Amino acid sequence: SGNEHAKHILVEAVAETGSTNADLMRRVPQLTQPQLRVADCQTAGRGRAGRPWRTSPESALTFSLAWRFAQPLSALMGLPLAVGVSVAEALKVFGVPVELKWPNDVLRGGAKLAGILIETAADERGHAADQHAKKGCWAVIGIGINLAAPDGLVQELGRAIGAAPELGGQSRETVLAVFMSALADTLVLFEEQGFAAFVERWHAFHSYAGKPVRILDNGRSVHEGSAVGVDAMGRFLMDTAQGRVAVLAGDLSLRLQ
Ligand code: ATP
Repeated sequence: SGNEHAKHILVEAVAETGSTNADLMRRVPQLTQPQLRVADCQTAGRGRAGRPWRTSPESALTFSLAWRFAQPLSALMGLPLAVGVSVAEALKVFGVPVELKWPNDVLRGGAKLAGILIETAADERGHAADQHAKKGCWAVIGIGINLAAPDGLVQELGRAIGAAPELGGQSRETVLAVFMSALADTLVLFEEQGFAAFVERWHAFHSYAGKPVRILDNGRSVHEGSAVGVDAMGRFLMDTAQGRVAVLAGDLSLRLQ
């Protein structure tokens, strides 16, 4: 990538670890520059709310990037969606057609192909010298992509799993370079303009527009209606019997009705 920030990312690759996100989250208090951690295999990969993200050796691409934002945590609301756009566009480079599902899933033919997990921490050191400076924050952005469906997962979940075998035909370095370049560009633009700069690009991958959907909170339906899209803050818009509602991600899930 051509931007200065992206040229100074520390990179490390390991054969196996529990979770690259957990590894980087532990290090955040000591980090002074962005760091990328790549693992061939994760033994305790996680999704949102501690749900498991399963990988099988040799058939997953999993990596996490720790990135410091000058803005406070509250500015990062649309970040999972912007990262989704970068993953979808990088997959497109390899000829893999995907759809985005709010808030954080990348689907292929309606089946989950990639997961995105973003964990954050306030930057406690901030600008200690200048108490009036705005406090920044760190985000650890984890991305897991199936090159093949993990063994037994289709049976376990009782649904199809998306995969991108196309990525297996390239060297891991080539693949990572494309994803990292897309991600670094995305983070720089997000810092400058927020999710507003990504709304159109997100909609280009939105397959639920006009479809009947419901929003679930812990399995309980809280909104039902017709999917519209997303707004400049990354909220999901849907038309319900009560009118148009804008839904915050929180830990909600989206389902086709
Ligand atoms: P949804 O809203 O679709 O339920 P979620 O956002 O709650 O998804 P995440 O936290 O992003 O889900 O991911 C964890 C979930 O993804 C797991 O509970 C499991 O159902 C599913 N899963 C786990 N590993 C994989 C994988 N390798 N490929 C596809 N899906 C997976």
